This record gives sequence, C-alpha cells and structure tokens, in this order.
Amino acid sequence: MTEKQLFASNTSLVLKDLLDEISSKSAMTIGYPVSKDFDYSELLPFLKYPMNNVGDPFIPSTYTVGSRELEKEVIAFFSRLFRAEEDNWWGYVTNGGSEGNLYGLYLARELYPKAIVYYSEATHYSVQKNLHLLNMPNIAIRSQASGEIDYEDLEKTISINRQMPVIILANIGTTMTEARDDVGKMKTIFKDLAIQHHYIHVDGALAGSYAAFVEPRPAFDFADGADSIAISGHKFFGSPIPCGIIIAKKNHRDRIARSIDYIGSLDTTISGSRNGLTPLFLWYTITKLGIEGLRQRTMDCLGVAAYAEAMLRPIEPMVWRNSSALTVNIPKPDTGLVKKWQLASGPEWAHIICMPGISKGQIDAFVADLALHKTGCSVPVE
Ligand SMILES: *Cc1c(COP(=O)(O)O)cnc(C)c1O
Repeated sequence: MTEKQLFASNTSLVLKDLLDEISSKSAMTIGYPVSKDFDYSELLPFLKYPMNNVGDPFIPSTYTVGSRELEKEVIAFFSRLFRAEEDNWWGYVTNGGSEGNLYGLYLARELYPKAIVYYSEATHYSVQKNLHLLNMPNIAIRSQASGEIDYEDLEKTISINRQMPVIILANIGTTMTEARDDVGKMKTIFKDLAIQHHYIHVDGALAGSYAAFVEPRPAFDFADGADSIAISGHKFFGSPIPCGIIIAKKNHRDRIARSIDYIGSLDTTISGSRNGLTPLFLWYTITKLGIEGLRQRTMDCLGVAAYAEAMLRPIEPMVWRNSSALTVNIPKPDTGLVKKWQLASGPEWAHIICMPGISKGQIDAFVADLALHKTGCSVPVE
C-alpha cells in the first residue's frame, strides 16, 4: 500500500467509527432540544460550492455564490408568522439563538445607550455573556417556580430605576422548564409606570419557532409588543448545522447600517461571511411542511410530551410540565441515567424534551429504565 492509500483507508475507518458513534448516541438523546427527524439529502450537491451569504441578505453582494434569495424567503416567512408590521421587518439567518440574542441586545443598546437590561434568573447562560460583551448594565429579576418571570419583582425593580430607559429580555421557553414570559404583561408595566423608552427583545431560541402554533397563542410577537425576536433553527425545525434567525423592526436596524464597498453590501450582520447552507435547510423545511405541516408537527410533539408526562406520573409523582410545553420535568435521577439518556439537568431537576423525532417507544424505554432505578436496581448502561 502506498502512503496515500494507507491514509485513505485510515480516513474512511475513522469516519466510519465516528458515524457509528454519532448514530447510536443520537438515538439516545432525549434531554436536549434538537429535532432528529430531518432528511436533507436533496441538498447534498450544495456541499460542493463555497456557499456564503456575506453581508446583509437584503442587499445584493458582489459575491453571488450563496442562497440569499431563499434566505429572504425564510425571513419573510418568520416575519409574517411573528406578525411584524407591514414593511417594517428585517432579519437574517444567524449561527444560532445566542447570536440572535446578541443582535437584539445590540440593537437595543444602539437605540437606548443608557438603558438598564432586565431578565429573569431563568434566562439562558449566554445572555449574561452577551451583556458583558456589550457592556450593558443589567439586573436579574426573580422567576416564579414555573420559570416564568415574577412580574411584581419586575415592576418594583423598574419603578426604582424609572428615570432610565428599559430593555427587557423576555423568554419564550426558558432552557430548563420551557416557561414563557408574557410580553403583554410587560407592556402593561410600561404603561403603569409611564415608561416611554423601552425595548423588548424576545429570546425564543427554544420555543419561539412553534409558539405561533400553540393554543392559546402566547403573547410573544411583534403584535404583542416585541421589538426583536431570536429563534434557533437546529432545535424544533432541525438542522445538521446549528443556526438561528433574528427578526427585528427594520427601522431599528437602519440605525446601525453602514455601507461597505468591499462586499458591495451593508455591514448589518454580526458575522461578515455567513453560512449559505443553513438558510437552505430552513427554507426546505418551511417549503415541505408549510404552515399546516408545522402546526401538525407542534401538535404531534405536544402529544408525545403529554404521553411522557402520563407514563412518568405513576413512577415519578413529582413530574410536571408547563402548559403547552414539550419539556417534561422530573427530579434529577441518578447520574447513570442522566448520562445514558443525555438528560439536561440542574442541581435538583432534570428534563426530557419531546422534540420532533422522539418516539413513544423511546419514552417507554426511558420510563422502564427510571422504574428500574426507582426500585433500586442498577440501570443497564448499554
Ligand atoms: C438554546 C437556547 C439559547 C442558545 O441558542 P443557541 O442556538 O444554542 O445559540 C438561548 N436561549 C434559550 C432559552 C435556549 O434554549
């Protein structure tokens, strides 16, 4: 064998091993919010091109090997879904929910440089880092037991600082319990305290992409009072590459736009070069499923979540779930079980998330494991 052949055979062995490992581990993931039911094989030919949606998707770039047109359709779809004002929306496909949150907070800071940012203690860990990067003064607000923000604490804290503009980061689906903050109630607080300068950014990374299909529809979108909304694309929609979407009011974004001759586009996005493949995945799912398909996808997941809760109840009476949530909370089981099923956990609680691709069969297998564990037997590891 030549060195080249040896290298090639090693390469395929290494890749095969990794693929086997990934496929068996993926089957056991029920604790992290990722869909596993997608098939984007039709998009494989695009892997042969240097896809790059550099710059603002709405301004053509001189670099044209990318998926800008479809990215714009994805943004238009979510703008409608989130009831943005006609002709006053803008956005782009990000690298994930965290970048979308960074962007929303950045816009808010440019509008209100002197504002204080309020967010509940159940907020995702990345938000504090973003606030640190942006150097924005901020105050954490208590959460209720469900994970939803405590409106009394919010109102009291804002009223102490009422001379300052207010930026709120609202959660539509907190990471641990999938609690939803009510944007409508936040607007009422602004009114009661006569706060004139305010901005609400919605962290919908987890549940923003299906909140519009839940009944009753939670108060989370532009018609409810949001100024920008970030969602993740690799969670409920599903993508082999992490991605997300930020949608903001266009007039907010116009304040930060700056023209760059080198790319022929506007430097309105956080990354310069941007993923040209991820908009394709999102566009594909939207086109294949349509609104009704996505609504059904939500209902199916809610059905599995209700099933999981019901099956867990007899062996774990403390099990609970926020209304219309895919997240089912249980007291943290022993480490073997947490590891085996890749459960996301805090100090006391753990959860499973019934994202698309999780079957009732998997729930049954998990429940059986937990039942074994409860009776004191050790859990079979493989
Ligand atoms: C997942 C998540 C994030 C981070 O999103 P990424 O897509 O992982 O960057 C932020 N907030 C919440 C509530 C999340 O669930």
